[in-house]
Amino acid sequence: MATQRMLKFVTTPRDMPAKREAADRRDDFHEIYAEFADAKAQEQSGRCSQCGVPYCQSHCPLHNNIPDWLRMTAEGRLEEAYALSQSTNTFPEICGRICPQDRLCEGNCVIEQSGHGTVTIGSVEKYITDTAFDMGWVKPSLPARERDESVGIIGAGPAGLAAAEMLRRAGVQVTVYDRHDRAGGLLTYGIPGFKLEKEIVMRRIRLLEESGVEFVTSCNVGEDLSFDAIRGKHDAVLIATGVYKSRDLDAPGAGASGIVRALDYLTCSNRKSFGDEVEEFESGELNAAGKKVVVIGGGDTAMDCVRTAIRQGATSVKCLYRRDRANMPGSQREVQNAEEEGVEFVWLSAPAGFEAGEGEAVSGVTISKMRLGAPDATGRRFPEVIEGADYLEEADLVIKALGFEPEELPKLWGVTGLDVTRWGTIRADFSTGRTSLDGVFAAGDIVRGASLVVWAIKDGRDCAEAILAHLAQAVNVVAAE
Ligand SMILES: Cc1cc2nc3c(=O)[nH]c(=O)nc-3n(C[C@H](O)[C@H](O)[C@H](O)COP(=O)(O)OP(=O)(O)OC[C@H]3O[C@@H](n4cnc5c(N)ncnc54)[C@H](O)[C@@H]3O)c2cc1C
Ligand code: SF4
Repeated sequence: MATQRMLKFVTTPRDMPAKREAADRRDDFHEIYAEFADAKAQEQSGRCSQCGVPYCQSHCPLHNNIPDWLRMTAEGRLEEAYALSQSTNTFPEICGRICPQDRLCEGNCVIEQSGHGTVTIGSVEKYITDTAFDMGWVKPSLPARERDESVGIIGAGPAGLAAAEMLRRAGVQVTVYDRHDRAGGLLTYGIPGFKLEKEIVMRRIRLLEESGVEFVTSCNVGEDLSFDAIRGKHDAVLIATGVYKSRDLDAPGAGASGIVRALDYLTCSNRKSFGDEVEEFESGELNAAGKKVVVIGGGDTAMDCVRTAIRQGATSVKCLYRRDRANMPGSQREVQNAEEEGVEFVWLSAPAGFEAGEGEAVSGVTISKMRLGAPDATGRRFPEVIEGADYLEEADLVIKALGFEPEELPKLWGVTGLDVTRWGTIRADFSTGRTSLDGVFAAGDIVRGASLVVWAIKDGRDCAEAILAHLAQAVNVVAAE
């Protein structure tokens, strides 16, 4: 059966001419890899038991119709698989690469639950859309009819971009404002290129531009342009600015040079991969080459930092986390990847202070050993210091990856009436993104707090629908007057 499927897959007549043409455009490596990927994707898709209780689908935030596109892939019906996959996901090739599938679709695959190893859903999703790009099936969303209404989107991360795509498809005029020089948000400047190649993100941005989305980059709303100016210019506004205030450490010596913020470090590394001149990298300030690196934190950002430091040629990379392996917030798959690459995890450890000469760079971290005590209000066991067990760990680059909080937008932007929660996130209806201001919507991390790309995409799509309903209502009101 597997062989039959393979033959059918490789020789599907409708696919072949375009497939060969696409393969001709690839270099040798890509061609060999693509053949391997074809076989792998088909093998994996064929493993889906079509169980009829698609927990994978219900645990995907976008409710992707996974069993059906797996079946189509197994049968070699790739163009149909692509059409189905992109009908619920604006950026399937991105989610396929960076969703923590072990916590979402794959972690709930019935085959995984029965102990036989999950179908690698994410890889197949990535494969389907990469193939669709290669074959020329992915086209810019050009509307059947242009509309006069315009929407301003603040923030070009996945939430803003997903909304932009849906709104353009409906013919709305869309302008996306972002303070960075390139669009993509954390897809571009947060997540490292070894997890998500930058060209994959830029390919999507180009597609959005081709569909008529206008990008206004290097525009820091609140400084270069006021929120009120944007609100006055558009019929609706979407705030999709993410969360960027880094949590900090309050320990003796924390101000020494060589102790840096995770996002500064990752942004610098990502800029280098675009070929930019980055002074902090050239000077060594944000470059791990030849250094003993200590990363503090146990989330996915910390994992990205340790793996980036290894690639930059650090002499050693240690990751301190105050709880144990079972209680860390980051993906277990990422920890395993990092360990395989040579990262040492120092569990139940927290920084108590930093060593540095007068006005000099950091030279070490004093580490307190911890134990897990009674559960706190959230139900998680609270880490407690073990007295007298401190020790000094040498370090000449310390990266703080302690998580992010929202910036105080109403204050920064001088806006009254925009309600926020006690965590500083924008208060918005979870299914529509409506905020306390009429015609102003919010999506992604700025509503949820630091979350995932796939949730940002879902929010962006949901908000776009709500914005379309809002625009239609406004038209009806005008017509009735
Ligand atoms: C290092 C790191 C790694 C991650 N890895 C993963 C992963 O592997 N998988 C995963 O699913 N999730 C990952 N995440 C989380 C994921 O990136 C976010 O949940 C997601 O990007 C949120 O999307 P967003 O559109 O809400 O915000 P963002 O992606 O943060 O985009 C917000 C945009 O708004 C812009 N902006 C902010 N303020 C202003 C302003 N005043 N004016 C103009 N523009 C403004 C910013 O420049 C940015 O471009 C990671 C996060 C980090 C930090
Ligand atoms: S979007 Fe993410 S969770 Fe959903 S099927 Fe794709 S990889 Fe799985």
